[in-house]
Amino acid sequence: MNTNKIANLTFAFVLLLLVTGWWFWQWSLWWLVWPLVVWMMLKILGSVFIQYNFYLHSYCCKKTDQKLISLTFDDGPDEKLTAQLLDLLDEFGVKATFFVIGQKAKKNPDLVKLMHKKGHLLGNHSYTHSRFFDLFNLWRMRNELLWTHEQIYKITGLKSLIFRPPYGVSNPILARTIKQLGYLSIGWSVRSLDTMKTTDQTLERLIAKTHPGAIVLLHDTSPEIVNITRNYLEWLQKNQYQIVPLNQLLSINVYDQYHPL
Ligand SMILES: [Zn+2]
Repeated sequence: MNTNKIANLTFAFVLLLLVTGWWFWQWSLWWLVWPLVVWMMLKILGSVFIQYNFYLHSYCCKKTDQKLISLTFDDGPDEKLTAQLLDLLDEFGVKATFFVIGQKAKKNPDLVKLMHKKGHLLGNHSYTHSRFFDLFNLWRMRNELLWTHEQIYKITGLKSLIFRPPYGVSNPILARTIKQLGYLSIGWSVRSLDTMKTTDQTLERLIAKTHPGAIVLLHDTSPEIVNITRNYLEWLQKNQYQIVPLNQLLSINVYDQYHPL
């Protein structure tokens, strides 16, 4: 049972108790306001924080004492930065995971091919990355995943089954979509905020938050991403962290060539 169902059942039980108290023992109906407020707060927090696994299960890290971590890059491929980043990862012998946006993949198929050729993993990050993604109905949400799935397949011949929700926001419709399509949802445990902070602030944050088993969220669209990644990789090396691909960290299959999609 997911956290959302537990919250709903608890809310229903408290509601029943308060209505019973009102009916039999003359309790004030004003007490109904409190569980309602708590229930709504839980729904909002559960949508925003993917780590809470409120509506669906997302892999956010691996519980381990070993100094293993995975790097993930979202929102690309980017015409200017992705190729430079791929060169840098080569230089350090690091394999990462790229959660690509379908319409950008369509525009830059050579970069997607290159990611795969260099041994990086490919994941789905919706087709448009619309700011209204979380308001979409089931039909549109399914298509956001399917259109990107098709692009990755067309370019590389791979059926990727990992999805990272745009903005990390989840809701019951996304949970149904992911279940229906047989995808796995991937979150993170270290958010770099590289699109909002300066290079120094991002690095400081990364260093402070890195832990064994972490999944690190970066963007190959941040203007300073090459510089940030270089400094971060140097720090990881100095601190004996081993960077492993997501499938190795989580012991999951990222691709399934026999999947019906
Ligand atoms: Zn994104």
